[in-house]
Amino acid sequence: MTADKKVYNNILETIGDTPLIRLHKTVADLPCPVYAKVEFFNPGNSIKDRMAVKMVEVAEAEGKLKPGGTIIEGTSGNTGMGLALAAIQKGYRCIFTTTDKQSKEKADILKALGAEVIICPTNVEPEDPKSYYSVSKRLATEVPNSWYVNQYDNLANRLAHYEQTGPEIWKQTEGKVTHLVVATGTGGTITGTGKYLKEQNPDIQVWAIDSYGSLLTKWFNTGEIDMKEVHPYITEGIGEDFVPENYDRDVIDYFEKVTDKDGAVMARRIAKEEGIFVGYSAGSALSGLKQLKSKLTKDDVVVVIFHDHGSRYVGKVYNDEWMLDRGFLDVNTVQDLIGGLG
Ligand code: PMP
Repeated sequence: MTADKKVYNNILETIGDTPLIRLHKTVADLPCPVYAKVEFFNPGNSIKDRMAVKMVEVAEAEGKLKPGGTIIEGTSGNTGMGLALAAIQKGYRCIFTTTDKQSKEKADILKALGAEVIICPTNVEPEDPKSYYSVSKRLATEVPNSWYVNQYDNLANRLAHYEQTGPEIWKQTEGKVTHLVVATGTGGTITGTGKYLKEQNPDIQVWAIDSYGSLLTKWFNTGEIDMKEVHPYITEGIGEDFVPENYDRDVIDYFEKVTDKDGAVMARRIAKEEGIFVGYSAGSALSGLKQLKSKLTKDDVVVVIFHDHGSRYVGKVYNDEWMLDRGFLDVNTVQDLIGGLG
């Protein structure tokens, strides 16, 4: 079958080759063009399809994942979605652990794709036996013929972006990209994509967007793992309370933190003003970019990654009551969103 006619042998073949879409109203205050790499066009509606399939393929090649095996992972949903798609095609069972902070929709979607999902408490230390890390690690020792994915330290994660996301952006911008902006969690997207782009042009700036409550920004700036930086936050999919092995500090030029409120409000602006129905972290990424606008000039070409789709956040960021309860919508914001009352 030929991909150019958009006829495929199975759903996995539709992963990648996502569009780059120019932003307008939301970036009207920036001096240069800004393009979004819109990753919800992947079949699992997120960028994580890319690394999920790559991690499975590498594990198969290394003999870690054997026929009829069970895939075990701690996942907030998006990685689980990609793993579940791969498992269906390749005949594996999936068991995922996730936290009670994540949208209920995400767990329900994973179950719809045949995965078993175990919900664990969010506000416990990673070492706590109840944490989603600990539970997934324990299951990996107990379930026979199982493979523990560990997206944080599994370097096939960043390899997927080095092989796919980076080359796509380079080609789509005809080598004109000057800045890559990525909201970051495991570090796979920013490190893999950034490494490829810097190999093409070392002058490309790679900016990481982090959340308040994560220790990554301080680690990047000082090399210190400072647990005093860590506190609960609401934004999903970005920031960490440890430093995953997928990070390579040499690839990243700058780290910027964004508040839960600014990320959520910006996600809604992207939906309303650009017609691109994005997830929470896309709002954080664009908000972070706008915080850094004084570093940009008219000759720059910015690419910002939009990791996932808004459908997973309809009960949260796209729900007025949820936003009001957290103080994320004030009168001015409500007026902005509905285009003004006057
Ligand atoms: N946004 C969302 C919605 C995610 O699920 C993730 C993955 N944790 C990220 C951003 C960050 O991507 P990465 O893990 O590759 O750093």
